[in-house]
Amino acid sequence: MPFSALDLHPNLLKGLKELGFAKPTPIQSDAIPHAMAGRDLLACAVTGSGKTAAFLLPILHQLIDRPRGTTRALVVTPTRELAAQILEDLNDLAVHTPITAASIYGGVGMGPQEHALRSGVDVIIATPGRLLDHLKQSYANLSGITHLVLDEADRMLDMGFLPDIRRILKQLPTKRQTLFFSATMPGPIGQLAHEMLRNPATINLERKSAPAIGITQAIYPVVQELKSALLLELLTRGEMQEVLVFTRTKHRADRLQKFLAKQGLAAERIHGNRSQPQRTEALAGFKSGKYRVLVATDIAARGIDVEELGHVVNFDVPMAPEDYIHRVGRTGRAEATGDAFTFVSPDEEQDLRDIEKKLGRRLQRVTLPDFDYSARVAEKLEVSQAERTAKWREQKTKERANAKAKADRRSQAETEMRARQEARPARGASRPPARGARPAGSGQISGGAPAASSSGSAGGAARSGSQRSGSGRSGGGSSGGGRGGASGGSGGGSRGGRSR
Ligand code: AMP
Repeated sequence: MPFSALDLHPNLLKGLKELGFAKPTPIQSDAIPHAMAGRDLLACAVTGSGKTAAFLLPILHQLIDRPRGTTRALVVTPTRELAAQILEDLNDLAVHTPITAASIYGGVGMGPQEHALRSGVDVIIATPGRLLDHLKQSYANLSGITHLVLDEADRMLDMGFLPDIRRILKQLPTKRQTLFFSATMPGPIGQLAHEMLRNPATINLERKSAPAIGITQAIYPVVQELKSALLLELLTRGEMQEVLVFTRTKHRADRLQKFLAKQGLAAERIHGNRSQPQRTEALAGFKSGKYRVLVATDIAARGIDVEELGHVVNFDVPMAPEDYIHRVGRTGRAEATGDAFTFVSPDEEQDLRDIEKKLGRRLQRVTLPDFDYSARVAEKLEVSQAERTAKWREQKTKERANAKAKADRRSQAETEMRARQEARPARGASRPPARGARPAGSGQISGGAPAASSSGSAGGAARSGSQRSGSGRSGGGSSGGGRGGASGGSGGGSRGGRSR
């Protein structure tokens, strides 16, 4: 079906033509007619399916002839990157229309966003937190909203935005069209959809999975954390035999190779930190079949004759479109020897777009049937700086606690030893009775031998200071009074104690 069959405004068709979109993607052909008819929509669609145009086109079509100066459409999306991307897509699609739009998200100044709200741009694309910040002010007025889009609802749930969404909803007119998009439909999302939507058209609720069979270049949209698991699944299911895997960094190449080896797969890696003999061995081993997987970085890959190899997996989207073309874009290679799969996480979409622009066509998105795309994973290929700092702090706290426990144990042992020592003369008849009667840790001189210096000169008093500290510390383990004594002797207390 061509776009012209969707009855879109001619100026939108003009924009689509310039973007090179020849025909609607499945989510677009399914969603657009319902949305154009004014119905609510409940759509399951992943990034990469063309969902953005699926909700923007019908809204733009309905707004095109309305008077300007009132914000009539609100798109709520979980991240700044998505908000910026949706605005960019909107500006491309609406290039031949008078429709205006603005994005609203945190981390940048409020001023221009306030201006957009005051001037009543047609469409606002916002993340929940910053939108609520604006909604506290009188200038933010969403009473004119007739179209609401909730984008990536399941991700908003993951990010803890559901209470914010409910707060935003309270400020919107109840009479509106709502388009609800989510990649998955966990319980709370189903509940939210039920509350928000009126008799919605449901689309693609069963995840449409186009198997990769027969496709020479396929895109697997997948979150960063699940890339290793997806690769492993493709390998264990036998979807590919030997495979050359490209990662962006040496670190990721190392971690991925270790992960695969741990899973029992014969895997090697080549990158700039490996010696020439190691690289030669890895490549020869891969070609001879000793290794089923060879993980390589961009740089190391340049010298490899990929034409002889079977599957190629871009574990990360290449930064430069030329790298993609170099690896998998040559149809001769792909047709002759196998498939080229590219794993694309949401933050790599832009790089993929650049590749598609360069190739002059859109690459097919596929999903692996029965692969758990909503799984949580413990093992990550990279540990973020924040996680490293948190781990370091945790380690330091543990070390401090251990050191304290050790010191307490030592102090306790000393106290017990002292108690035994002091108990001995009390039992013996030859000691003066006054010694045994002194309270331990009282801050008084309680040591044995130096007792003679307690009476007398300033020098004796000075010496007794350290002795006092020592006694105070030893008493610290047994009574608060002892701690008082130790503080009186300041740092000398611990020194005195240790020297015993
Ligand atoms: P989305 O799922 O909205 O993030 O879109 C994924 C990519 O597909 C983006 O690069 C879009 O520009 C592109 N795209 C969307 N619709 C079409 C279409 N009908 N034909 C070709 N490319 C499209």
